[in-house]
Amino acid sequence: MQQQTKLPKVAYFCMEYGLNSRLPIYAGGLGILAGDFLKAAGDLNLPMVGIGILWRHDYTEQFIGEDGWPYDVYPNYDYDFVKDTGITIKVDVEGKEVVCKVRLVDQYGNVPLYLLDTNFPGSEFGWITNKLYGGGTHERIAQEILLGIGGIRLLRALNIDVDVFHFNEGHAVLAGIELIREKMADSLSFEDAWQMTRRQVVFTTHTPVEAGNEKHSHEQLQQMSAYNSMTYEQMSRLGGDPFNMTEAALRICTVANAVSNLHGHTARAMWRHVADTGPIISITNGVHLPTWQYPKIHRAFKSGDDLWKPHMEAKMELIDFARKHTDAELNPNALIVGFARRAAGYKRSDLIFRNTEVIDPLLKGGKMQLIFSGKAHPNDNEGKRIIQDLVMMDRKYKDSVVFLENYNMEIARLLIRGCDVWLNNPMRPLEASGTSGMKAAMNGVLNLSVVDGWVGEGPQHGISGWLLDAHHNEIDAQHQNMHDLNALYKVLINEVIPTFYDNPESWRDMMRASIDMSHFKFSATRMAREYYELMYRRVMDNQDAVTAPWMVPMRSRGEQHPYAT
Ligand SMILES: *Cc1c(COP(=O)(O)O)cnc(C)c1O
Repeated sequence: MQQQTKLPKVAYFCMEYGLNSRLPIYAGGLGILAGDFLKAAGDLNLPMVGIGILWRHDYTEQFIGEDGWPYDVYPNYDYDFVKDTGITIKVDVEGKEVVCKVRLVDQYGNVPLYLLDTNFPGSEFGWITNKLYGGGTHERIAQEILLGIGGIRLLRALNIDVDVFHFNEGHAVLAGIELIREKMADSLSFEDAWQMTRRQVVFTTHTPVEAGNEKHSHEQLQQMSAYNSMTYEQMSRLGGDPFNMTEAALRICTVANAVSNLHGHTARAMWRHVADTGPIISITNGVHLPTWQYPKIHRAFKSGDDLWKPHMEAKMELIDFARKHTDAELNPNALIVGFARRAAGYKRSDLIFRNTEVIDPLLKGGKMQLIFSGKAHPNDNEGKRIIQDLVMMDRKYKDSVVFLENYNMEIARLLIRGCDVWLNNPMRPLEASGTSGMKAAMNGVLNLSVVDGWVGEGPQHGISGWLLDAHHNEIDAQHQNMHDLNALYKVLINEVIPTFYDNPESWRDMMRASIDMSHFKFSATRMAREYYELMYRRVMDNQDAVTAPWMVPMRSRGEQHPYAT
């Protein structure tokens, strides 16, 4: 007789989703991860629904002005292809009833993505879903009410049965408050309602910097109606005072996870002082292979063919794109090093330029070319200054440094497969995981990286990439800068450049090793399996037995790649 299997049914909450370029409702890594996870769950046929917000103006479209300073534009997107379910739900914001439409993206297998929307004719509350991470705390709290409280109400309105509520980052924590409120409305005590809710929730934290974890004043939360009928005592039991979204999520979950092994250590140390939380384990991020791996690279890798030919095709596409957008004429036979990140100080986009005596001859002599891309948050002048500096380098080194404006999934896709080397040099330990390097690795684009985030489990030096020897986290910022800059030049000049020009055989071996190292281990498929095995199963443990998800027929299992012909 066949064993009855029951997989937990999951509702996944996230403020942003990076799925495709027609639906720009993401800002960066968090959204891309959420999008990749939904796609992988769809490929694996897992019972999951996604919950998010339909942002009218996404994050920003960012272009470069005459003076090199980035400026922001916010086009209105036409989201006609996002279905209107005809269902509406209501939440309270500042004591007023807000009606939200429930809209639907159903392109990803059996995994629907429901998006809440207050931006429709006749709505007074269009401002809530107007702009991702736009506005101040007033807007943010309203958005969090929508995502969390609204998210639970939409699941109820659609009659969707859920075993596990997964909060991807603290933004969704008010969903926990709504789950508690529901149970209290069923006449449970706060204490019992909390403990029961805790057995339904898992939480992923992404923020390794204390200050990056969002806090709100109780006064403002109450005034915004985020209390959702809780009292001050109850809310501060959960999130402290001021109300810390991450702390609250840690106290409303069965288990939480950090997004790489190294981040796990950082997160556990960071939250050690908070009592009564779920344990924090590590599940390293992964990326959706069919989205990010160049199909020709995939085929060449699988069949053991030369990787250079498809690599050069990807490189030419990138060079053509750069020429079209910047007039730069990059040399396909010379080394291209890529770097695309959000413009945040800790990512140190400009590190490589900090010793002109070393870098100038490399760039002028044509031995090395650099391509950058990235956006700054619209209100972040420090980030914009970083971008302006990169643009100045682009102007100074006309055909050897390129800055591509308006970083998005399309540009990311061209870069992570079209460069030769992918550079990553954040300050440690501030990068929770990083995923662009995984995308590069699975295209045979070799990582040149400090050891932080996913890199601690990824490339091996001289075999599948290069590591800047990790003098670990103990040294202060000033010394990290000096140390990493010297290490970067040393590896570039003594290893990367000679291998590229003098030892093409080794380079190809490294490309193959890089793909081999990454394409299962850093895939979203592996990540989705771990979420089921290590998180969702824990929730289900005192319910029905769970069978490993890889016992379910899977579309993308084994050799069958969606691009394979
Ligand atoms: C992959 C990706 C990111 C995340 O990259 P990190 O290495 O984590 O900074 C951000 N934005 C876009 C468009 C991406 O494709």
